[in-house]
Amino acid sequence: MQVSRRLTNITGGGSGGWDLFNRAREMKLSGIPVTELTIGEHDTPTDPSILDAMHRAALDGHTGYTTIGGLAELRQRIAQRVQQRTGVPTAPANVLIVPGGQAGLFGALMATCEPGDTALFIDPYYATYPGTIRAAGAVPKPVKARSRAGFQPDAADIDAAAEGAAALLINSPNNPTGAVYSQQTLTDIAEVCMRRDMWLISDEVYDTQVWTGAHLSPRALPGMAARTLVVGSMSKSHAMTGSRIGWMIGPEDAIAQAVNLTTHTTYGVSGFTQMAACHALDRGVPFETQIAAPFLRRRDAVLAQIAQQNVVRAIPAQGAMYIMLDLRATGLSGEAFGNLLLDTHHVAVMPGESFGNAAAGHVRVALTVDDARLKVAIAQLLDLAASEAAKRAS
Ligand code: PLP
Repeated sequence: MQVSRRLTNITGGGSGGWDLFNRAREMKLSGIPVTELTIGEHDTPTDPSILDAMHRAALDGHTGYTTIGGLAELRQRIAQRVQQRTGVPTAPANVLIVPGGQAGLFGALMATCEPGDTALFIDPYYATYPGTIRAAGAVPKPVKARSRAGFQPDAADIDAAAEGAAALLINSPNNPTGAVYSQQTLTDIAEVCMRRDMWLISDEVYDTQVWTGAHLSPRALPGMAARTLVVGSMSKSHAMTGSRIGWMIGPEDAIAQAVNLTTHTTYGVSGFTQMAACHALDRGVPFETQIAAPFLRRRDAVLAQIAQQNVVRAIPAQGAMYIMLDLRATGLSGEAFGNLLLDTHHVAVMPGESFGNAAAGHVRVALTVDDARLKVAIAQLLDLAASEAAKRAS
């Protein structure tokens, strides 16, 4: 029996650039000590106080079906947090609790695209974007951002691709590039969305990890609250990746309709997880700063190492838990360099090509191992890049 084309088409046929990642995992399983700078996951587990809250909530009876759109306590807290951070009036009815940012992305695409509609997204992109757009029945269309522009998208490029598009999906702070979109970039994007009558889906799961400048949610720009769906998550901000809890923020009627999607897909998020999220949010900004601190510290250390040579160029890592490195001076693709680095030094990074054409000749380094190990791995990467560039010059 064949499964539906809806499923077989999700990946678009490719490996999504995960070959190197899988090879690194196999090496590790065979006993080789690989330094994995690949996926965006903290090197520390969820804080014990959050796990205690989860345990207590379960013992207190939060083990049954929950209100589908999310517990009132959590929707209230998220609404308050978003309003405080953005200044946009936000009520619990603007908030839908979902099992992780990924579910929020799917919900937002389902909410904004008819089957066959085009959804624009910015290349380089978070690896699931094209597949999520396809899973929602829409057609993904990338718009390139340029390395030399620090991977800030150009609104003129978006405009040129926008004919007939129903939605634009953006992500700031950005995975994989670390770019934090400037006020100008976002204002220009908002203007295109309004002129082209497009929805904006704003993936803000890294909003607590901003090192340079400030996070601006485009929902706060004039006229945008009515056409923006914001996707957020506890995964990155509170080191709760495995708890699978996130949200979608939008106009009240869109959220009310999206509750129907939840009823017919996930049927909500476990109550004990939502109560644990309430506890985590109540720990406030100091806790979020504590979770983000290692990535800022490591980003600064890596930039200092990179400043001592001139083969590898770092894209200004303004936020998120990654640094994108431009290796084009070596003459190698990101994939070829990544494979060589894995073979010679047992250091695994993600090839830029895994995130789209615009990141060819780059690699993404996740800042997710301890400082000392990261320092060694970056030194090895820089040595390899220097020797490959020298080979090319000779
Ligand atoms: N959006 C971006 C840009 C991400 O990098 C990730 C995870 O890495 C997600 C969304 C999904 O996060 P989660 O489903 O864990 O909330």
